[in-house]
Amino acid sequence: MKELALFWHRRDLRISDNAALYKALCSGFDVLPIFIFDKHILDKLSPDDQRVLFIHQEIARLKEEYQLHGSDLMVFYGEPLVVWHELMSQFKVSKVFANRDYEPYALTRDKAVDDLLSSKRVEFIGAKDHVIFEKHEILKNDGLPYTVFTPYSRKWKERFSDFYLESYPTEKHLNKLTSLEKSALITLESMGFSSVQNNEFSSRDLRKLSIERYKETRDIPSIRGTSRMSLHLRFGTVSIRALARIALDKNESYLNELIWRDFYQMIIYHFPNSATQSFKSQYDKIQWENDSNLFKAWCEGKTGYPIVDAGMRELNATGFMHNRVRMITASFLTKHLLIDWRWGEAYFAKRLLDFELASNVGGWQWAASSGCDAAPYFRVFNPELQAEKFDKDKNYIKRWVPEYGSSSYPQPIVDHKMARERVLVRFKEVLG
Ligand code: FAD
Repeated sequence: MKELALFWHRRDLRISDNAALYKALCSGFDVLPIFIFDKHILDKLSPDDQRVLFIHQEIARLKEEYQLHGSDLMVFYGEPLVVWHELMSQFKVSKVFANRDYEPYALTRDKAVDDLLSSKRVEFIGAKDHVIFEKHEILKNDGLPYTVFTPYSRKWKERFSDFYLESYPTEKHLNKLTSLEKSALITLESMGFSSVQNNEFSSRDLRKLSIERYKETRDIPSIRGTSRMSLHLRFGTVSIRALARIALDKNESYLNELIWRDFYQMIIYHFPNSATQSFKSQYDKIQWENDSNLFKAWCEGKTGYPIVDAGMRELNATGFMHNRVRMITASFLTKHLLIDWRWGEAYFAKRLLDFELASNVGGWQWAASSGCDAAPYFRVFNPELQAEKFDKDKNYIKRWVPEYGSSSYPQPIVDHKMARERVLVRFKEVLG
């Protein structure tokens, strides 16, 4: 049996400019690419989850691409460790390659796989692909991780050079893929998911990316003023290096958002507990109201605050919400309704096509003021003023809340003035 290098696709669903795939192709061994539909993750999702559908479509596309080169993507469905046991008995594996993932679950999964491979004397080789700078690359002078964004981004920019954006030319080495007979892709139905597409997936075409006026347009939810790249960055259907090259060329404020993304990936790596606990621990002493009826009204977009309702309805209908409105709805839930940020984080996690634990937790803890570099606790967004500022002509509100202004639109579920005073007192109690 021929010795093979295995390459494991995870959140990097592309062949071009793929760091670990490149390393595998240059390893001297023939390369067998694999993907695992992870039961541990899928079992928690609803049958119509559109992200599973998106992944399935991308896997089908990847299979076709590999088949064009006389190879194939082998696809499995199960618990990763069980699948790896199978793979080790089925093939003569010399080395395994994968791009690094910094989330707590992924780190545990990869450690278990690494232990298994080590026990068989097989090396598990990681690569940086998901971010520009990872883990320990940007540290304070005392060697500790940054917890404040501005000095982090300053150091990021000092450290940066074009070298970090160089593309990995996988296309030159695809003759190193192992030859395989074509195989059929497991169906969504056989994994318990529907193949009905309800949501539109944003375009990944970087040639269509228009970010020249990003700074002026990014805060207006009624227009397409942002890039809609988040889904593709999450699943690696676009290379962060390719996107950052365009940002560097065209718009520095856009690059800044990509640095926020790196920042949160670094935070989740160093502070995995922040996925479930307040980064500033005293915020876990806050007495939340956690009223489930109010939570339901927020989820359904029936709070009587039109910008909040528009955001929630956009999310429910499309799996996307504009960043400005994510900030407003998150602030409203935590500060006006005094509902634990974890409830909101979990709801977004269920609904967002671009759900990314690091950025979602980062965004929620920012809004709740409990995060590492968060809005101060006394900053309570006034939803009406936010709407006046960012949706002056109410185009966004009218699109998502057609009954706005009529008698069927609900009265506000909470009074702004009362809520503002209440949250200031409540937060102050524990912050001293
Ligand atoms: P653009 O404005 O075009 O930005 C370009 C890219 O930069 C984005 O695709 C994203 O990868 C990155 N980016 C932009 N803003 C941020 C930010 N504040 N933090 C980290 N990265 C950023 N982003 C996610 O990718 N997944 C999430 O689950 C997520 N949850 C969020 C929850 C809350 C409460 C908040 C306030 C923000 C959240 N964000 C999340 C960040 C941001 O809202 C989205 O990245 C952005 O709206 C995606 O749209 P876009 O691709 O058009 O962004």
